[in-house]
Amino acid sequence: MPVRYYDWIAHFGRRTPDKIAVIDLASQRRLSYAEFDQRISRLASHLRDQLGVKRGDRVAVLALNTTDTLEVQFACFRIGAVFLPLNNRLTVPELQFIVGDASPSVMIHDTDLAEVALTVAKLCNVASALLFGPGASYEAAIAAAKPLDTHESVTLDDISTIMYTSGTTGQPKGAIITHGMTFWNCVNLGGPAYISPSTVLLTVLPLFHTGGLNCYTNPVLHSGGTVLIMRAFDPGLALQLISDVSAGINQFFGVPSIYQFMAQHPSFATADFSRLVIGGVGGAPMPVPLLKVWEERGVALQQGYGMTETSPAVLTLDKEDAVRKAGSSGKPVMHTEVRIVRPDGSDAGVDELGELWVRGPNVTPGYWNRPDANASSFTDGWLHTGDATRVDAEGFYYIVDRWKDMYISGGENVYPAEVENVLHQIPAIAEAAVIGIPNEQWGEVGMAIVAVRPGHTLAAEQIHAHCAANLARFKCPRLIEFVDALPRNATGKTHKPTLRNKFGVSKATDTARA
Ligand code: ATP
Ligand code: MG
Repeated sequence: MPVRYYDWIAHFGRRTPDKIAVIDLASQRRLSYAEFDQRISRLASHLRDQLGVKRGDRVAVLALNTTDTLEVQFACFRIGAVFLPLNNRLTVPELQFIVGDASPSVMIHDTDLAEVALTVAKLCNVASALLFGPGASYEAAIAAAKPLDTHESVTLDDISTIMYTSGTTGQPKGAIITHGMTFWNCVNLGGPAYISPSTVLLTVLPLFHTGGLNCYTNPVLHSGGTVLIMRAFDPGLALQLISDVSAGINQFFGVPSIYQFMAQHPSFATADFSRLVIGGVGGAPMPVPLLKVWEERGVALQQGYGMTETSPAVLTLDKEDAVRKAGSSGKPVMHTEVRIVRPDGSDAGVDELGELWVRGPNVTPGYWNRPDANASSFTDGWLHTGDATRVDAEGFYYIVDRWKDMYISGGENVYPAEVENVLHQIPAIAEAAVIGIPNEQWGEVGMAIVAVRPGHTLAAEQIHAHCAANLARFKCPRLIEFVDALPRNATGKTHKPTLRNKFGVSKATDTARA
């Protein structure tokens, strides 16, 4: 018999009712587990009884980070509806594509995003229902609603969420997320990320991506800990809160650019990181020089690897290994199998590059409305990640780069992340990305796109000289372009399709915008 989904918030509402579950930093609202549970219960009955949301219906949310979004998530779970968080950085046509694809029955949005939300709702013929924000209809609905009489019977095999991928390599795909996938992610991350009822997490990544929602917001709520939600990432505020004894923050997660922006902030040098039990990093290749900058401030960042499709944790590096194995994403989490596969489908050997495949109860059953992607992404239940990976003799995995970003120069494969690592060793460089550019003689050559730190100067010759001293000739970028800042998507990942487009070398898959 399929296992039932048990509501975590209702559980902690009974077990530790007075414990603070969530803090919304923008509105300063603090909700105990009992209060959070009651609000979710009332919202669930409003969705079902007033807005007619039925089991299986999608409920879209377009918002900046707020604890209200988490209430919608859990309210959907209680009535068997499907939570559909939308990327608030997208334009109307991009949202129109996603909303048209997922066809929600209602859309809930932030007052600040009303113009875009209402336009998209109208274009897609979706009822725009509730508004987040002080004094808005969302609060009135919760105040007026009765608590939900019964929770819908939902199993771990049922769909809980449709989450669109970051769109780093092309059009975002709707990954189907089941209750079981999220549950297993909570189990798998619990130990390696030291999650417990005493965890106090600061969430700065967007809740509409798996990084913000599941690293580690949902796992912390699954353990009865406390989550502080920042409306939009602000490096100075993050450093101030982490340093603040009364906030008690002991856990933090970011993508590499988040750590980069914090490290470049004036208060980084004096911030107090002594209470941090874990600073997790993942989502994109982490430059080793940046790991060293944090290590010098006493923080051994723990790298991890995951995807929207795997809910997300696949690999994590333990704290004890963080310095010794800097650059590795660690070893597989529990209840998850991985393989490194050669193009012919056989298993790669130690230190041999291949594509990472993943199998386990945290892996998506497939993409929403994408029979093409479903056909090409799975073999016997193994998900093809598209990431070039190797494993060393001690069993530590290294994500080298995406196959799609690799280019071939003079017959040699070049993985941009390796070159970017070397560029980040130059202190004057704030941000760096490398792409392959067609070249008559070599097939392709590297172009480095570099943003210089304010107040510093850097000449292309200095970059060439540093690369020549640290990289094989075929890996050295031949072209250097200076920009003010790199294009990034909402998760903070460098958006290489935009860069390729800018320099006239788009690939067939480069369709989505940052
Ligand atoms: P899309 O699939 O739409 O192109 P995306 O792959 O960026 O977007 P996500 O699911 O948010 O969407 O990101 C997963 C990807 O992020 C992985 O496949 C991998 O390329 C990259 N990634 C995650 N963690 C790491 C890591 N530790 N090191 C290197 N790359 C990582
Ligand atoms: Mg992807």
